[in-house]
Amino acid sequence: MNIVRLYNTQSRQIEDIVPLNPDKILRIYCCGPTVYNYAHIGNFRTFLLQDVLHRLLLTMGYGVKFVRNITDIDDKTIRGAQQENVSLRSFTERWTDIFHRDCEALNILPPDVEPKAASHVAEQIAMIETLIQKKHAYAAADGSVYFRLSSFPDYGKLSRIDIKQLATQNENSAGRTNLADEYDRDSVHDFALWKAYKAEDGDVFWESPWGKGRPGWHIECSAMSVKYLGETIDIHGGGIDLCFPHHENEIAQTECATGKLFVKHWFHSEHLQVEGQKMSKSLGNLFTLSDLKNKGYDASTVRYALISGHYRQILNFTFAGLDAARSALSKLKAKVVNLCEKNNLSFDENFLPKNITYHSPNSAIEALKNDLNVPKCLGEIFSALNDAQNMELQELYALCFILGIEKFLFHRDLKAIEVPSDIAELAAQRWQAKGNKNFDESDRLRQLLGEKGWNVVDQKDGYELEKMDF
Ligand SMILES: [Zn+2]
Repeated sequence: MNIVRLYNTQSRQIEDIVPLNPDKILRIYCCGPTVYNYAHIGNFRTFLLQDVLHRLLLTMGYGVKFVRNITDIDDKTIRGAQQENVSLRSFTERWTDIFHRDCEALNILPPDVEPKAASHVAEQIAMIETLIQKKHAYAAADGSVYFRLSSFPDYGKLSRIDIKQLATQNENSAGRTNLADEYDRDSVHDFALWKAYKAEDGDVFWESPWGKGRPGWHIECSAMSVKYLGETIDIHGGGIDLCFPHHENEIAQTECATGKLFVKHWFHSEHLQVEGQKMSKSLGNLFTLSDLKNKGYDASTVRYALISGHYRQILNFTFAGLDAARSALSKLKAKVVNLCEKNNLSFDENFLPKNITYHSPNSAIEALKNDLNVPKCLGEIFSALNDAQNMELQELYALCFILGIEKFLFHRDLKAIEVPSDIAELAAQRWQAKGNKNFDESDRLRQLLGEKGWNVVDQKDGYELEKMDF
């Protein structure tokens, strides 16, 4: 096994990833999407970086059990279902399917288990009962149950937040306040484990020892993580915005229920900005995968752009960056075509490069092993490709697999499918414009082809046309 090193949010140190369990299988839990709308590129940056980590660990010889949940009970899903006058289940199943379709387009490996909160209410109730028995939680007069923060002195150990300086906790960064104006909590810091039924919940409720209601958001991750991965897990991932309060609350719930350490290693990815600005609905920059497709960028380009910054730095997502990603992929594709032809090789869809012996030192792999440095890895790949010495095909495949771009570079039919004549005409005009160094015109034509669903891959003395995947 090749040891991977990774920054741990809790210790603020880069540490070796060494499996805790005797079976050497790494237990990884990542907080998944809330299925009420399209996931946007900020969400996908997080899921893609987790995917690169997942692929790196597999390739380095680790055994991995990867769990990513689906949040299908919260204010947003309940409101969405009500507005459409459909059941919560059919509403969230539809958005889950859309999420899966986007993940597939982006070539994100599916998790080993993808538990849904609504299918695990019994497990959540059982954990809340344990917390009440151990005096870490209490039921209020209205039938809601709260976690007693004063019973857990370690609260805040992950984010190093001082509880005394806290305002009232929020349900989540985008959601509504967590019954903050209720008077029956012992302390304003106590957060809800179970929410008593309110008329606005409509037909969404479960029976519990405390009456009708629904679980609070935080408890699902604790209950499902313990169920599928055991009491202590190796790695827990999520966007940095989940660090507080969601992950602090997960720690409090799980450690108080089990009496054991919950997570050894915390993996958080930083925010995304768009053209230097915060992402927000009002700025209209919460782009989804289909928004970008409509602007002529395919999933491979989006994937490449979103993983290309270091996960611990804010990524400024720009259209210039997308263009650069597309051109980098074209260069890689040309190299792959060239190497495949030279070696008279094609690759099997299921080829997993687990047992590759790396030429040492392989600086591109080393960059990934050392705190998942994707930008450095990409730089090393391109300098190796530019080098007179050819990179070996197997090696390049392994790197592309870890970065999750192998599907776009290796598995697609290398010979383009039949090209309609208008597309062929535009591509020929573009090639001519490029030859005349009229780059504005050649970019304009490339964009136009993209809008029509075709990608141009330039090679040394010609180009290929590819139909975009989605
Ligand atoms: Zn979570």
